[in-house]
Amino acid sequence: MKVGVVGAGQLGRMLGLAGLPLGFQFRFLDPGDDCPAERVGELIRAPYDDIDGLERFAQDLSLATYEFENVPAQTAQWLDERLTLAPTPKALAIAQDRIVEKTTFRELGIPVQAFAGISCPADVEIATCKVSLPAVLKTRRLGYDGKGQRVLRATSGDSIAVVRQAWDELDRVPCILESFVPFVAEVSLIAVRGRRAGHGCDIAYYPLIQNEHRDGILWKSQAPAPCDPDGELERVARESVRSIVESLDYVGVIAVEFFVTTSGLIANEMAPRVHNSGHWTIDGSITSQFENHLRAIAGLPLGSTEPRGASVMFNLVGRVPIPTPILRLPGAKLHLYGKGARAGRKLGHVTLIAPTAKNLLAPTADLEQLVVWET
Ligand code: AMP
Repeated sequence: MKVGVVGAGQLGRMLGLAGLPLGFQFRFLDPGDDCPAERVGELIRAPYDDIDGLERFAQDLSLATYEFENVPAQTAQWLDERLTLAPTPKALAIAQDRIVEKTTFRELGIPVQAFAGISCPADVEIATCKVSLPAVLKTRRLGYDGKGQRVLRATSGDSIAVVRQAWDELDRVPCILESFVPFVAEVSLIAVRGRRAGHGCDIAYYPLIQNEHRDGILWKSQAPAPCDPDGELERVARESVRSIVESLDYVGVIAVEFFVTTSGLIANEMAPRVHNSGHWTIDGSITSQFENHLRAIAGLPLGSTEPRGASVMFNLVGRVPIPTPILRLPGAKLHLYGKGARAGRKLGHVTLIAPTAKNLLAPTADLEQLVVWET
């Protein structure tokens, strides 16, 4: 079966690498000239909203997915009318707009921080009354890796002026003002929901993942999450994710990011796609998130999400490291995306796997010294 993937970045490439052994073929749509996925399938190089490109992409396809959530709404709609697009345009629309996303979580009873929208000058005062500083001002749309955000510290002066200035700095595009969450850790839960019930487990969950960011970019993911020794956070996170996927009749892999606070989990955002915090699943679980995403959207039985032990993953950013010292580490698996080097660009990742979290401590300390991080 040939699967269309909107976007031909590293996530598309890893979908391809996971799907080829199962007999899937791939066609990617991407306007870029440095596409990591083009080595694992056919590439239609065209803007995402170019009808001619979309027609060439969709020709003979019955199934498509996407590797990033900023697929233009009209493109998703166009595809959805002609073939099966999974996850659905509705999931995409929710994840594209931070206010719709938080409102969806709140309506499902999932705790979120206080938030308010700012779309016009009059909204600044109203939002600042609802959400006191410290707060974070973010663009409603198109933010990623911490871009399009301003952290606003508490002030003894004029809070409204602080928010107004930050909104000016973000070019007065529609924004969300949200309370700053004094989190003790950040975690994500990745789940996969199959197209049909009756193939074993309809929803499968990976272990809770603990994430650390640097410069707004994911630096390190650990699974299972060390901050959740008794599994209570994982239990709550599963309930939240279950209610999201069931309410959306969702098909495919989903990742939901949470803040861990002293009073429990607060949902931050969802990604209706395979996720960077799940890259460790390629080496560290029976079935990777990439393979399970393909199985789910194609209506195949889901694979086991059981971990093979404990895993830690580091992103490689800005420059490709010398591989030899990394490959010498026991349990280290290096993944390079074949992208040109540039500061702040994710060029690959390394996963370490070991039977237990304790066995990971020494190689993790060694690996931290070798991880390249240039932003
Ligand atoms: P986001 O784009 O929402 O994933 O935010 C990127 C990172 O900024 C998060 O992973 C957090 O580390 C931090 N962050 C975002 N929103 C908040 C918030 N409301 N309170 C505290 N930290 C935040």
